[in-house]
Amino acid sequence: VDGSRPVWIGTSWKMNKTLAEAAAFIDRLSAAPIPRSVQPFVLPAHTALAAARARLPRDSPVRLGAQNAHWAAEGAWTGEISMRMAADAGATMVELGHSERREHFNETDQTIARKVAAALDHDLVPLVCVGEPTEVRDRGDAESFVADQVTAALARAAPGSVGACLIAYEPIWAIGARGRPASEVEVAPVMSAIATAVAELTGGGRACALLYGGSVSVGNAAELLRSPHTDGLFVGRAAWDIEGFLALMRVG
Ligand code: PGA
Repeated sequence: VDGSRPVWIGTSWKMNKTLAEAAAFIDRLSAAPIPRSVQPFVLPAHTALAAARARLPRDSPVRLGAQNAHWAAEGAWTGEISMRMAADAGATMVELGHSERREHFNETDQTIARKVAAALDHDLVPLVCVGEPTEVRDRGDAESFVADQVTAALARAAPGSVGACLIAYEPIWAIGARGRPASEVEVAPVMSAIATAVAELTGGGRACALLYGGSVSVGNAAELLRSPHTDGLFVGRAAWDIEGFLALMRVG
């Protein structure tokens, strides 16, 4: 965090929250003071996106996004939603390539690259998730593995639009109840490798904002934000309760 750019603090609700639960969270968030330094974002399930948009005050700084969307503009894709539909429901950003989608829904660097390009075509900010499994970390290859994921995901984006993307570094071993949070020492070299990969794509143009995700909590948020390339935090469990989200915004 360098002080001149906003600190991104956001959460994906993953497959959680009914409409009533989503409304309760959004109402509390709408009423809370939001530090000027923070750019908050919330990624509801598709079912709650339009309702969340309708409940947020028009001038709220909170951005909403989808947790996934398809690259095709429309058509026979049962069970999917398009970038256009996500934007129409109130998304200004879209999460792409979370490790749960790579693992359980066979998303590849190639499908993610198509989705990144489609998101940019619809003026949605892609939030591209990358991160290595334990084996890769253990053999010392995290930096090159993650840099390659970034290069592949952004391969179809025009060099001038790469800087509009957000990148979340989420080591797979750090995500969820079985994960352990990464330390600043583990995160910093990978963030630096991501920044280098992005600079190669943009020719030194506008850099992407880089977020860390994986077992972020109020207890470790300040340390993680101290890392030189870290522009924000992408949070799961610790932010699903509104009190947790508000506390994390105060750290930012
Ligand atoms: P977690 O999830 O904070 O619950 O570990 C992080 C994520 O998957 O983005």
